Amino acid sequence: MAWSGIRYGYGTVLLLLLLLVKPCASDDRLVPGKPLFPGATIVSGSGSFALGFFSLTKSTPANLYLGIWYNNVPRLTVVWVANRETPITNSTSPPPALSLTNTSDLVLSDASGRVLWTTNVTGGVSPLPTAAAIGLAAVLLDTGNLAVRSPNGTTLWQSFEHPSDTFLPGMKIRMKYKHNGERRGERVVSWKGPDDPSPGSFAYGADPVTFLQMFVWNGTRPALRSAPWTGFMVDGQYPANSSAYIYVAIVNTEEDTYISYSLSDGAAHTRYVLTYSGEYQLQSWNGSSSAWAVLGKWPTWECNRYAHCGPYGYCDSTMAAPTCRCLDGFEPANSDEWSSGRFSRGCRQKEALRCGDGDGDGFLALPGMKSPDKFVLVPNRTAGECAAECAKNCSCVAYAYANLSSSGSSKGDVTRCLVWAGELIDTEKMGDMAGGETLYLRSAGLDDTGSRSRANTHAMKIVLPTVLVSSTVILAGTILACFKLQARKRNREDHRKLELILGGTGTSDGLGEGNTAQDFEFPFVRFEDIVVATDNFSEACKIGQGGFGKVYKAMLSGKEVAIKRLSKDSEQGTNEFRNEVVLIARLQHRNLVRLLGCSVQGDEKTLIYEYLPNKSLDATLFDNSRKMLLDWPIRFNIVKGVARGLLYLHQDSRLTIIHRDLKAANVLLDGEMRPKIADFGMARIFSDNQTKANTRRVAGTYGYMAPEYAMEGIFSIKSDVYSFGVLLVEIVTGVRRSSIDDIMGFPNLIIYAWNMWKEGKTGHLADSSIMDTCLPDEILLCIQVALLCLQENPDDRPHMSYVVLSLENRSTTLPKPNQPAYFTQRSTEMEQIIYNKNSVNTLTLTNIEAR
Ligand code: ATP
Repeated sequence: MAWSGIRYGYGTVLLLLLLLVKPCASDDRLVPGKPLFPGATIVSGSGSFALGFFSLTKSTPANLYLGIWYNNVPRLTVVWVANRETPITNSTSPPPALSLTNTSDLVLSDASGRVLWTTNVTGGVSPLPTAAAIGLAAVLLDTGNLAVRSPNGTTLWQSFEHPSDTFLPGMKIRMKYKHNGERRGERVVSWKGPDDPSPGSFAYGADPVTFLQMFVWNGTRPALRSAPWTGFMVDGQYPANSSAYIYVAIVNTEEDTYISYSLSDGAAHTRYVLTYSGEYQLQSWNGSSSAWAVLGKWPTWECNRYAHCGPYGYCDSTMAAPTCRCLDGFEPANSDEWSSGRFSRGCRQKEALRCGDGDGDGFLALPGMKSPDKFVLVPNRTAGECAAECAKNCSCVAYAYANLSSSGSSKGDVTRCLVWAGELIDTEKMGDMAGGETLYLRSAGLDDTGSRSRANTHAMKIVLPTVLVSSTVILAGTILACFKLQARKRNREDHRKLELILGGTGTSDGLGEGNTAQDFEFPFVRFEDIVVATDNFSEACKIGQGGFGKVYKAMLSGKEVAIKRLSKDSEQGTNEFRNEVVLIARLQHRNLVRLLGCSVQGDEKTLIYEYLPNKSLDATLFDNSRKMLLDWPIRFNIVKGVARGLLYLHQDSRLTIIHRDLKAANVLLDGEMRPKIADFGMARIFSDNQTKANTRRVAGTYGYMAPEYAMEGIFSIKSDVYSFGVLLVEIVTGVRRSSIDDIMGFPNLIIYAWNMWKEGKTGHLADSSIMDTCLPDEILLCIQVALLCLQENPDDRPHMSYVVLSLENRSTTLPKPNQPAYFTQRSTEMEQIIYNKNSVNTLTLTNIEAR
């Protein structure tokens, strides 16, 4: 395989430790007056990356390069090279050196003093006086980014904005940005060969015309192409054979549009790399085999290659062995060539289009497609206008429409209408699971039956959620594995009982109708076994008490479990049971509590969960004698984990699930203080195009409820986002939202947080028990994210995808939040109600009539 060449190439690498002079730098930074020489390295704070001089051949004198590599990976793996085109060939005395000048430029010069490479940030402005240059430094960060920072901390230049062949977590590949008034995109450029970092012929970057799709080019020819982008998006998945969770995002801001990704905590080193042979690979370091494992690669199949199936042909990636096919209404242009696997001539239309005749053409909806290349972008069209745009023009052969604003970008109603007027080239069928968008293909002689249908109002029902996933995955250039629910053995009798419950308790705002026990492959436990395991529900085994019943710790099949015994005779308890079984059986995520089984016998209903030894977050967070167990790194991880769990519920699980009762008591902590969201008793599933619902039964917990939900019964993913905001402030401050104590002279925690943020004093908000461990930047980030989530208007609150990305990337450019809810007239009354109720308890309240 192509990559093995690189690996073995590296295996033979001789890293020249040219100890020509004594190292001057052993720090994580380079400062003016202290150059870096061959033999010395700069190592990032936690030791992940090193910056220094390296050589890739045994020959002497070997070309010498300045670069960044993984410091704790035994096989030299270079992720960035400064002087790709200008290697140091003469490294004799005096030695080459990398210096930081007082003009804030990094300068690499060789033995003769010739400048081989420079950042040229300042364009030769006057140097800072020596005193003012104190604090100026080039810092190697733990992300692998080399950043030149001014004395006041501003980043003047960073290697992440000048990629080589590697795309690292946290790096942004800008698809579009303004440079000297011109729009351009960044490119990752392959090496020339395994031992030659000079720029090779392959490049990865955005389409310079539309900025809507990513390409890998071979020279000037496209080699691979992603699906056209449909807006802001985040996708997260576990690639096959990897424990790392990978988030890939495309972010569209006023200044630029970029693609970025991040990894779950504790993940092995992972990177995207464009190999010298033109493959775009996702690799992860495997310590036990001491090699880079390829988790995904692009092209995945031969027919992924650009235009492989010819005009009007498409690569059908939904098949076990993907191959080329002709679009509906087309047949191979040359059937002999086609059947012998030569597809480049593509397909031809079977029946001529009758554009203009009374019995004209229609549009055939092809869902799950990667749309073809060479489209024309028509801005500001509704779905109907987009269809009309194509219909009115006989040369328009297809169209595709997307509403970008519904995919997460917060401002305005931005739409994307693509039309095609020439050959349809480089199309792919990706399937609904992998995503893709609906392509409307002009076709002759359509009737209203069968799989073909006209472009009527039905055809305009575009399935956006699938578009998001596919584009991101493909843009990232990797095929990530989908979650698979594990099949479990069924017990007919138990299923019959469960069927009765699932079928018998539908509520008006409850789960979708028609769920049957057969839909939920689920292990049943005999009630007698539960009685034995809990010592007949003895007090000694009891570990908690919730609104719907008691929780016991027990051993079942040699495994520690938590057993929730739902209160008998409680209609609400039955609903909760139904909800948990229906929902959790379909979900699997490391930040959601796992339901291991259930039991039904007469009135007795029990749910069996994985046991989480550190119980619920509130038990530690708000307990003065225990809260020091939660230092800041642990709290920040809890925040990120809960955010990921919620993102999964809202977006990644293929269902849209509103939890409705997110709070510290419903976040459980495992043995390593990792969070898992629990308690789906209140949760609701939304159908594909549903964005909000209204209920007369306001269920949830005061203090965590969004105002529109508490007062008007309107809930949506944004009401969960609000609850997350409350939780986030609680985690930073260690104070309960519902505390009735006066908080530093402010009436409640949210108002306190808002005021401290406004006055630039977010540091004051940090719980005293995390003072030694917290990072001010992370506190500021969390509070700002929390305040964005707490905004009065649900539309102003970010999606969880945005929250996750901001937290994962430690984003520094967040929008300014509006003042939170409970400041306006409407909210004041609510606040009063909340105070009155909170003084009673903080248990989940159900069946409260909101109006
Ligand atoms: P409510 O249901 O009214 O919102 P709650 O969420 O606190 O309240 P439960 O989910 O019934 O109620 O849980 C009660 C307590 O039992 C929790 O606070 C926690 O301490 C403990 N508990 C619940 N599930 C587990 C589990 N899987 N592992 C360990 N402890 C658990």
